[in-house]
Amino acid sequence: MTARIIDGKAVAAALRAKLARQVATLPFRPGLAVVLVGDDPASAIYVRAKDRAANAVGIAARTVRLPADTSEEALITHIARLNADPSMDGILVQLPLPPQIASQAVVEAVDPDKDVDGFHPLNIGRLASGYPCLVPCTPTGVMKLLAEAGVALEGAHALVIGRSTIVGRPMGMLLLAGHATVTVVHTRTRDLAAECRRADIIVAAAGRPQLVRGDWIAPGATVIDVGVNRLPDGRLVGDVAFAEAVEIAGAITPVPGGAGPMTIACLLENTVTAALRRRSSG
Ligand code: NAD
Repeated sequence: MTARIIDGKAVAAALRAKLARQVATLPFRPGLAVVLVGDDPASAIYVRAKDRAANAVGIAARTVRLPADTSEEALITHIARLNADPSMDGILVQLPLPPQIASQAVVEAVDPDKDVDGFHPLNIGRLASGYPCLVPCTPTGVMKLLAEAGVALEGAHALVIGRSTIVGRPMGMLLLAGHATVTVVHTRTRDLAAECRRADIIVAAAGRPQLVRGDWIAPGATVIDVGVNRLPDGRLVGDVAFAEAVEIAGAITPVPGGAGPMTIACLLENTVTAALRRRSSG
């Protein structure tokens, strides 16, 4: 049996269209500031994509470009200005930052109510406590894909590969909130293949090309591949050996075109959410 392909591009396009309709009814344009420090080419591509996608749904996006030698203090001063700017509903600092800047200090400098990446410790704590908050975009996108694919979470064995603060950990918390039985594995896990074989749902976010083999997957399991890896020959692949997995899984996301497009769409959704919360309380 061949797995059903979960089309992240289509789900993301539908979410963007819904957001555009919602924004069109608002008496104001939500504002998003994207801060880019330095000239890392991959970051520049991501930032351009975010800017374009935001403007396309009616969000007023502004990219703040700062030189690579910007000090931590200067960056935090810029963020303070954006925090105080009432037209800015969302603030995102593109990571990674140059080595002279401590990312954690910068993440903590963003107003938690404008933290559309959901990386501020207050938002992470709220998520862990089950309170409403701005939730990191990539795991939110994965939850939407699981919902779209009609995957039942309650009681399911869900395996998250990776424990980063950006993807793996919040992913585990969201699956737990959805009543799955959650296992989070990482580089010190003893038997990754055995953990995978037990799972009804696998979310792979290790950043290791084709780490998850087809014979690690339980027949009919749902596989969401968050990994984005460039091979030496230039091909883009996920953390799952797709050609093998597609023969065994029940449903699977491709790379590209699976989890990737959802991240930006969820960032736009977080911006609209932040705008509505701020402007109704302000
Ligand atoms: P990270 O490097 O911060 O974390 C990787 C995690 O995977 C670590 O916790 C590590 O312990 C675990 N890991 C690594 N190798 C492993 C192995 N062999 N076995 C078990 N666990 C292992 O990476 P990240 O920022 O969480 O990103 C993970 C992947 O997801 C990357 O490929 C990244 O490019 C991709 N990503 C995609 C999107 C998107 O929008 N699609 C967004 C964020 C990250």
